[in-house]
Amino acid sequence: MADVLFTNVRIFDGSGDMPYTGELLVQGNRIARVGRSGYGARTPPLLGAQVIDGAGAFLMPGMVEAHTHFSWNDQPSLDAIQRMPPEEHILWCAQVAGRYLDMGWTSCVGAAAAKPRLDVVIRNAINDGTIVGPRYLAASQEITVPGGLGDTTQPHLPQPEFAFGAIVSGAEEMRRCVRMFAKYGVDSVKINLSGESITGMPSERSQFTEAEVTTCVEEAKAWGKRVAAHARSTWSIKQCVKQGIEVIYHASFTDSEALDLLEAHKKQHFIAPGLAWLVNTCHHASEWGLTPEVTRKMGYHRELDAALETMQALRKRDVRILPGGDYGFAWTPHGTNAKDLEYFVKLVGMSPMEALLSATAWGGPMMRMGDERIGQLKEGFLADLLLVDGDPLADITVLQDKARILAVMKDGAFHRAPAARVARSTRWAA
Ligand SMILES: [Zn+2]
Repeated sequence: MADVLFTNVRIFDGSGDMPYTGELLVQGNRIARVGRSGYGARTPPLLGAQVIDGAGAFLMPGMVEAHTHFSWNDQPSLDAIQRMPPEEHILWCAQVAGRYLDMGWTSCVGAAAAKPRLDVVIRNAINDGTIVGPRYLAASQEITVPGGLGDTTQPHLPQPEFAFGAIVSGAEEMRRCVRMFAKYGVDSVKINLSGESITGMPSERSQFTEAEVTTCVEEAKAWGKRVAAHARSTWSIKQCVKQGIEVIYHASFTDSEALDLLEAHKKQHFIAPGLAWLVNTCHHASEWGLTPEVTRKMGYHRELDAALETMQALRKRDVRILPGGDYGFAWTPHGTNAKDLEYFVKLVGMSPMEALLSATAWGGPMMRMGDERIGQLKEGFLADLLLVDGDPLADITVLQDKARILAVMKDGAFHRAPAARVARSTRWAA
């Protein structure tokens, strides 16, 4: 792997500082040097390095998607996702994984798979180079209760193969289920703590007993697995804090106690609200029968208002809010994920700087890579980075446009190399 030197780039390093014009050197899979133009007197010999003159393009860390479902297949219903045969389904996941990398998401946190082992198989295939995709954390299916969100079985077809989620009732069934997913090799266990109005169970309803939740967390921790929760209701959000469930998806309906709890434990949690799903379900899903009248009746317009209020409050309290969430429905297709950043700016009140940090610097720890660091452009960090035509701090929507993402590098290798002017260095020092 040749060294790569980016010159003449605007460097957004993910530290919170404003971008500056500089150079960045990648050696192997790491960032070896980064700094302002002309600082590099101590740069080691670079003969043979690939030099990329960025012509002022924006160089930033690769983005982290915090709530990813590769196996959602851009269809309009849970049934349509679940009924895809496993052979086609794994091919779909492989193809979608590449789409994320194309769009600059160099890391994704799996948030549930539609069949028991899809996520694990895809993660392993990415890691061993069989397929191309972002760094990935594999999730279990959604664990749910009979009649709850994710139980798509029919009374006459009760077989687990017809279920979108893994259905348990009682603490011992929960224990068995968590152990099964641990055996399959997931990184995280997903539990559906609240309903989801589109499935017929209202978002504000909570479906598990506290004892079942306790068993889930206890067993997951015993196996060294992270727990992530679908938590739209107030009770479910409080359970996440009380039980130490690190990853909270949605967190729409809060009261002052829930907000106080989240603020008091903000270092222990990541929130990924999945705003694009709510916005587009309310306003852009008519083609699939979900007109605004229908989704208003389902309660989603009220939920969108509640979720925005919650996110605005959490932002003021410095709670980490991350992009991503439930892309893979017909009205929120995979690859459009940077819309979350636009909504963070336009609807939550984040500055573009905060929105970019939420996708990079805050995403790094979300990936739980221990001593290996991502999410910032710093010496020693793994070389996951994007070259962007434009300034996302001036217009955050440029990150939605594939043509504006000129290059994507993961782990020091180009997934998409820039078409920009490239020269071989003949310099001995930068
Ligand atoms: Zn989800």
